[in-house]
Amino acid sequence: MNDTIFFRDNKLAPIWEKVQKGERLMLEDGVTMFHTGDIISLGKMAHHVQRRKSGDAVYFVLNQKIEPTNVCVLACKFCDFATKAGEPDAYEMTIHEILHKLTPEIHEVHITGGLHPEWKWEYYLEMLRQIKRGFPNVDIKAFTAVEIDFFHKKFKLPIEEVLRQLKEAGLRTMPGGGAEVFSERVRKQLFSSKIGAKTWFEVHAAAHRLGIPTNSTILYGHIETIEERVEHMLRLRRAQDETGGFLTFIPLAFQPGDTGIKPRNRFTSAIDDLKMIAISRLMLDNFQHIKAYWVMLTEEVASVALNFGADDMDGTVGGEKIAHDAGAVSPGALAKDQIIKIITDAGKIPVERDVYYNPLNLFTSHVIGKIPYLNSVPFYSYLERRQFRVMPITPRRMGVLAEKGQVDAGLFSLVDFLGQQETLQLMPYCIATRDQVKSVLLFSNHGWKDLDGKTVGIIDDTATSVKLLRILLEKKYGVNPRFHRMHSGINNYEEFDAVLLIGDEALRHKRTGLRGFDLVYDLATEWYEWKKLPFVFAVWAVKKNMAPDRQSELSSIIAASLNKGEEDLGTVSLVHAKSLGLASDEAVEYLEGFNYRLGEREKEAIQAFESLLSAIDVEPLYQQ
Ligand code: SF4
Repeated sequence: MNDTIFFRDNKLAPIWEKVQKGERLMLEDGVTMFHTGDIISLGKMAHHVQRRKSGDAVYFVLNQKIEPTNVCVLACKFCDFATKAGEPDAYEMTIHEILHKLTPEIHEVHITGGLHPEWKWEYYLEMLRQIKRGFPNVDIKAFTAVEIDFFHKKFKLPIEEVLRQLKEAGLRTMPGGGAEVFSERVRKQLFSSKIGAKTWFEVHAAAHRLGIPTNSTILYGHIETIEERVEHMLRLRRAQDETGGFLTFIPLAFQPGDTGIKPRNRFTSAIDDLKMIAISRLMLDNFQHIKAYWVMLTEEVASVALNFGADDMDGTVGGEKIAHDAGAVSPGALAKDQIIKIITDAGKIPVERDVYYNPLNLFTSHVIGKIPYLNSVPFYSYLERRQFRVMPITPRRMGVLAEKGQVDAGLFSLVDFLGQQETLQLMPYCIATRDQVKSVLLFSNHGWKDLDGKTVGIIDDTATSVKLLRILLEKKYGVNPRFHRMHSGINNYEEFDAVLLIGDEALRHKRTGLRGFDLVYDLATEWYEWKKLPFVFAVWAVKKNMAPDRQSELSSIIAASLNKGEEDLGTVSLVHAKSLGLASDEAVEYLEGFNYRLGEREKEAIQAFESLLSAIDVEPLYQQ
């Protein structure tokens, strides 16, 4: 994508140069953007990055907010929610009352609340256990760093132990609240008894080490300076470089309420809100998602934000109290149909997601799926400019969505195509290896033959690679380990004897190694040495019921896009490679290791794989 922007503020032009080349923006760039009046150009730059990351997708989740109590030992100045025990408005929910608020159709429960002086540790653990037991499909996002630190001090448990026990009880991810602004000056004035940046980052790093992804926030629009806002983003970016464990960044507009910090009706302006969204999208190059939290922004501003860098609308958020107690003017809960309409009106694909951002349902037609890894880049860099809507989807999820009829065409994992040949038409393009692939890797502590009975962690994204691994283990080496599914993103890999990683994650760890594992096996090399054939990981296919003229139009666009992409692998892969820390020549060498056209050898390889696939006991593949 190489969009032209006509700037009214020429100070933005050098920033745009950097953005296009995938270069990092610095403190002074952030400050310049906050001071600009050229809001439209700012939005265009952020939208460019948003599309590079998420295509046309905008995510939402069916969720329920639970605030189990408003009784809190602290009294932060900006908080209109908390009270003391015995006050007329104080409330405390029982586990029964919490369960009563949940319904089976939601996918996420978001739990945060006051720091209660009396509640026992067991109460929190039991709350999570009972939610998990009663609603197995509901993922629990719970407890800010402030609450985790409170548990650590009150119950005299190390932070890691607090998190480990919560994870065992059912915790999946953590919200990003409590960050406020990472500035000692602001902390001393507004929340001097609350944790500062150091503890906030310590808690999140501990969660990431345990394989618990977290979110991150900033509370803006009170007494912070522009420089403090940008510095806040830079600190988060550095932390993300170290752990990769943040799912999203959520700018939270300050709700003045009765806090006395600002007049009750002095909300942040829509321009300031849109700048926050756009600038965070541009500064946080290593964050996949930026959220427009409509509860605080209002529905109207949030919908514009979807073209200013935000790719997430949060969710239906039933039961939210904290922001509304402080005067938020948005509706108490936004119905699913309304969210879908807002996203559709913004020209985007409404994507219902789970807590890890796995897509569950798409609410539009004409979607082209894109495997979001470096190896598929040659197909897409020009295709994305055409009239098809493109959405990055990991291989296994693409198969699931295609089965529901929600993806019209795309690069499908080979296994998914083979299982859906009745509805999918093969196209003459694929991702096949020549000998090694470098991005489907088994990291292990054991030789192949010693893996019998051991535990292998499988990243949730894979559909074909896991079957290839299974075939190699069973048919080539005669061993049967146990498989355990890991969620996409960060995990505590050291729990396993071996770990299968694919795509960019594998590529990244090929360079850096994976802590705790000495051996690395390339599955395509194993296959090649065994069968003397390439391996086909993915093929292009289109829904058979797509109109023939549209099918042939798509086919010629793919061909043209691939031809152009292959002519200039260095250019089309530049930004993606940079995000993985790869030099341009390394990326080109990696991409040259693939064959993108389905020839006779590739068809022979598919047949060989298919016959082996039918000879293994494919299900049940995972033990969870
Ligand atoms: S912001 Fe959180 S910690 Fe501070 S008073 Fe309110 S509920 Fe308590």
